[in-house]
Amino acid sequence: MYCKATLTARLFVENIINFLLGCLHSLSFHVLSDLVSFFPMYDLIVIGGGAAGIFAAISAKTAHPDSRVVLLEKSGVLLSKVRISGGGRCNVTHGCFDPRTLVKNYPRGEKELIGPFHRFQAQQTIDWFESRGVKIKIEEDGRAFPTTDQSQTIIDCLLTEAKNLGVEILLRQKIDRISKTESGFLIDRKEAEPLTSSHLLLATGSSPEGFKWAEELGHTIQKPVPSLFTFNSPTSSLKVLSGISINPVEVQILGTSRIQRGPLLITHFGFSGPAVLKLSAWEARFLHACEYRFEIAINWLPDHTAEKIYEALYAFKKRNPQKSLSAEYLFDLPKNLWKGLLGEISEKRANDISLKELQIFAQRLHADCYQIEGKTTHKEEFVTCGGVALKEIDFKTLQSKLCPGLFFGGEILDIDGITGGFNFQNAWTTGFIAGSSALSLATC
Ligand SMILES: Cc1cc2nc3c(=O)[nH]c(=O)nc-3n(C[C@H](O)[C@H](O)[C@H](O)COP(=O)(O)OP(=O)(O)OC[C@H]3O[C@@H](n4cnc5c(N)ncnc54)[C@H](O)[C@@H]3O)c2cc1C
Repeated sequence: MYCKATLTARLFVENIINFLLGCLHSLSFHVLSDLVSFFPMYDLIVIGGGAAGIFAAISAKTAHPDSRVVLLEKSGVLLSKVRISGGGRCNVTHGCFDPRTLVKNYPRGEKELIGPFHRFQAQQTIDWFESRGVKIKIEEDGRAFPTTDQSQTIIDCLLTEAKNLGVEILLRQKIDRISKTESGFLIDRKEAEPLTSSHLLLATGSSPEGFKWAEELGHTIQKPVPSLFTFNSPTSSLKVLSGISINPVEVQILGTSRIQRGPLLITHFGFSGPAVLKLSAWEARFLHACEYRFEIAINWLPDHTAEKIYEALYAFKKRNPQKSLSAEYLFDLPKNLWKGLLGEISEKRANDISLKELQIFAQRLHADCYQIEGKTTHKEEFVTCGGVALKEIDFKTLQSKLCPGLFFGGEILDIDGITGGFNFQNAWTTGFIAGSSALSLATC
């Protein structure tokens, strides 16, 4: 009887406060701050239930088991990108354990991640999952996956940990507005009462709402543009060879200085494979500025000089005047590609191929140019370049330098990696540091 009366009284007071709060948005900061002290206060509200948000909430509760931590997720599911990542296998990190080498895989964030990686890098990620029963394997190219080859294993591990630690999770949250108050933050929700907290952690990935809130709380947003995409080449003569993969090649975007070495995949629309994806990340801003119209040069034989290639072709011509080049595989290239690259001289007898033609072919093997017009989203991994400006963040804690008590983790920051597990590593590292620092610091 007593309990029921208390509950009714509490509901009554909360309803009145809700009503008043709705009216009071136009009133001053101080009035708002006084009023929010009526609400149950969370120590930390994490917004965004992706890799960074979940890992941050777990880290906060691990560091401060008695704290009240709640995670608000817009959709009805947590970790949805983890589920589809790495073709359903989740490339959870990369087998690179030296922080100074690891940072070299981040077109944006290289300098800022050095400190954080000294505290939590790929080795700590692997140890974290393995100590919770998830075995991790590292493949030949360095990518790390759960040995089950199923992203669900990673999801189950994270969600079990969050549940065991007592992280409160609220799904389908429609957040209307975030206000800074004297004692922390006020989160207004559509169709539900507001929530308050002393600390706030934004981990909303590349969502426009997250960028808007960060901006409203004083931050600069570096313009978001796509990264990790494949190149369309409608005029490429090689499209008929779709499916052929060559490793290694070197690819360069003309007008830029970076040369990317690695595997290249010929597709029915142009070019893909790690060499192309990595270039798309390094040159994401340049390519956006030129509206994805540019030219690439492919070096099919990066371990040979143009002179050596010419010498080999010339020696063949001298030795086999009656043979065609297409009948002989002088270099370690797939047969169909070799024929495709030979083009018009493919069926000519060596004797009938002029020295000029030989020279042009040698040049082609070394710097074969293709016009690129447009891009295609790579299904296995894509990411956004841009986000919260890094100079406004303290990378010892991931706390905002402009808004005390506000923390960031994951892709909302202007950090992104090349393909290979580096983007999740950013989420784990920044999520870990933001979550474990948030409740250890004085705020206002
Ligand atoms: C198809 C695909 C495959 C990938 N594969 C890999 C891979 O194998 N390895 C790798 O390293 N990287 C991979 N990535 C990149 C990686 O998934 C991201 O870098 C990583 O998920 C970023 O984590 P995050 O938590 O910062 O953001 P997200 O994973 O995007 O999570 C953000 C969360 O915030 C929620 N949210 C957004 N707005 C709101 C709001 N207003 N209110 C409440 N919640 C909100 C979202 O619903 C989401 O749950 C892949 C990406 C894609 C798209």
